[in-house]
Amino acid sequence: PPLYIQRYMVVQEIIDHPIWNGSIKKIVEFGCAELNLFFYLKPNPQITNVTFVDIDSNILELNNGKVMPTNYDYLISGNRKHPLEVNLYAGSIADFDDRMLDMDAVICIELIEHLYSDVLDKVPLTVFGFIKPKVAVFTTPNVEYNVLFPDTTQKFRHPDHKFEWSRNEMKEWANSIITTYPDYTVEFDGIGLDPIGTKDLGCCSQVAIFYRKNMEASPANLTGFKPYKLLKRINYPYE
Ligand code: SAM
Repeated sequence: PPLYIQRYMVVQEIIDHPIWNGSIKKIVEFGCAELNLFFYLKPNPQITNVTFVDIDSNILELNNGKVMPTNYDYLISGNRKHPLEVNLYAGSIADFDDRMLDMDAVICIELIEHLYSDVLDKVPLTVFGFIKPKVAVFTTPNVEYNVLFPDTTQKFRHPDHKFEWSRNEMKEWANSIITTYPDYTVEFDGIGLDPIGTKDLGCCSQVAIFYRKNMEASPANLTGFKPYKLLKRINYPYE
């Protein structure tokens, strides 16, 4: 499958992994754009809440059909033993919103490279200081791989990218996070096969997966703030 599909599949594999023993029930994706990840989360019958947050309310409005129940969802509703609620919010990862506090997983697929440094600097505090999920997944381009692209006139792969990191830069960022938030460990992976003979460049996309060491729920620090704007809430049929 194409690289962008492989990114969703990597996230799906992490969320569906048997190590969680059904404990990943609530998931938030920041920078969800066209809501394409939902297709890969929806089949997991343990999930009770999928929350999508993007700063661009337009893109959520345009794509909200992708999270609506289909006739098939009504037909198979007997397979679902738990409610499934889907929420679409317009909001920024730079802001705390108390409704994010009980999330088990935070997903950011190709988001961080779109953030200016003042917003990027707030990401660790929102995710690890405030939400404190059991697992957090970040994917971003691996700049070392760019020499394999034919067009060398462009600085970055996309005009909206504020940076693209080498594998070492991603590691420095992630390691500084676990130094500040020692409740977490981090593992790195690559997405997209390396072409033959270019193994030293790494994969096209890179991923950092943070795991909270203590799986007991930590007390939530309510802030009283709910700045995200709820655009849609959908409840799926279940038994
Ligand atoms: N995750 C998407 C996917 O898998 O298809 C791709 C992400 S897209 C390249 C980046 C998205 O991040 C855009 O939709 C943009 O509106 C959103 N974004 C930019 N700044 C943001 C912020 N501060 N908080 C939340 N979303 C943001």
